[in-house]
Amino acid sequence: MSGNIWVVAALCRGRLLDATYEAVALGRELAENLGTKLEVLLLGHELKDVLGTLGIADAVLCVEHAALADPVPEVHAHVVARLAGTRHPQAILVPQTNVTWELGSLVAGELGVPYVNSCTELRMVEQTLEAHTVLYGGKVEAIVRTKHAPSIFGLVSGVRAVEKGYADHAPATERITEVDVQPTSVQLRRYLEPEAGDIDISKEEVLVGVGRGIETRDNLEVSKELADVLGGAICGSRPVIDQGWLPLSRQVGKSGATVKPKLYIAAGISGAPEHVEGMKGSGLIIAINSDPQAPIFQVAHYGIVAKLLDVLPALTEAIRSRSRRGMKQYA
Ligand SMILES: Cc1cc2nc3c(=O)[nH]c(=O)nc-3n(C[C@H](O)[C@H](O)[C@H](O)COP(=O)(O)OP(=O)(O)OC[C@H]3O[C@@H](n4cnc5c(N)ncnc54)[C@H](O)[C@@H]3O)c2cc1C
Repeated sequence: MSGNIWVVAALCRGRLLDATYEAVALGRELAENLGTKLEVLLLGHELKDVLGTLGIADAVLCVEHAALADPVPEVHAHVVARLAGTRHPQAILVPQTNVTWELGSLVAGELGVPYVNSCTELRMVEQTLEAHTVLYGGKVEAIVRTKHAPSIFGLVSGVRAVEKGYADHAPATERITEVDVQPTSVQLRRYLEPEAGDIDISKEEVLVGVGRGIETRDNLEVSKELADVLGGAICGSRPVIDQGWLPLSRQVGKSGATVKPKLYIAAGISGAPEHVEGMKGSGLIIAINSDPQAPIFQVAHYGIVAKLLDVLPALTEAIRSRSRRGMKQYA
């Protein structure tokens, strides 16, 4: 196999999304294993401000055009496919974000090449690219190998350390003007803003996740107290968000955020695949559930079989008293 590794940058309103840096970190590892170059494909309008953090790559291929200002998938996909058709990369990595979700499949369709989506891992094994992917909402994990060049890989975000793909300098930049940008009749009408003022749970180091086992909105207070003494935040499973007890920005899982805090306490959460998909990358998982058969115990490092209202206040008090005695809270 030959050809460079490409990462298609995920850009929203002039800002690179963290998933881009995750993809760049993975692309760097791959390029080094293959003895080839890593190039980031940056499509947009007025891009000079975002180049300064992509120095982990060997080069940025930059296409600027007014029709690329908004993330309309058809327009971007056509440009990526055209460039791939003339420059022959070995693999194209596309972070799966709201703005790039459809891109990989559209490029693959236009080029007639394989597309492997929901990849959590990608490496070279015996001259073949091997991807680990998550299927059926996390119920099945598959290993897919492809020798086709290029193959396109959609990467699950929130799996890798963003810092590994981030640099405070710009790489060599090639501005490409010869590519044909074709506007379509599809227009982006507006961006829906997340609820104002809330935190970004994907950046928290400690999360207390609450599920239907919390029973009432008022009981959220005990989980919030625990999160507070640990310096973290609360989040929830989908039923808690559907009830309106926490905002959508706090939902963990398939249709919410992917989180990987150092500590995730799952309280009254059964461990459905759609929830686990969003938190299984956490450093330390502690589950509290009254049902010893709850699936959450299969992913937890430590489990407590008990009613959460018996455990959460006791934990909070124990941590408070340790801090009063000047002891370290958790390592
Ligand atoms: C397409 C799709 C997308 C989805 N996306 C998401 C998603 O992003 N995030 C998500 O979370 N879900 C998602 N779901 C829903 C998911 O399938 C589950 O229904 C949901 O995660 C269950 O939430 P839960 O664990 O809080 O509730 P339940 O499954 O009802 O579990 C409650 C748990 O609490 C325990 N419990 C009860 N009382 C107590 C007590 N007093 N003390 C301790 N434990 C107690 C019970 O034993 C049980 O295990 C999605 C589903 C679909 C179909």
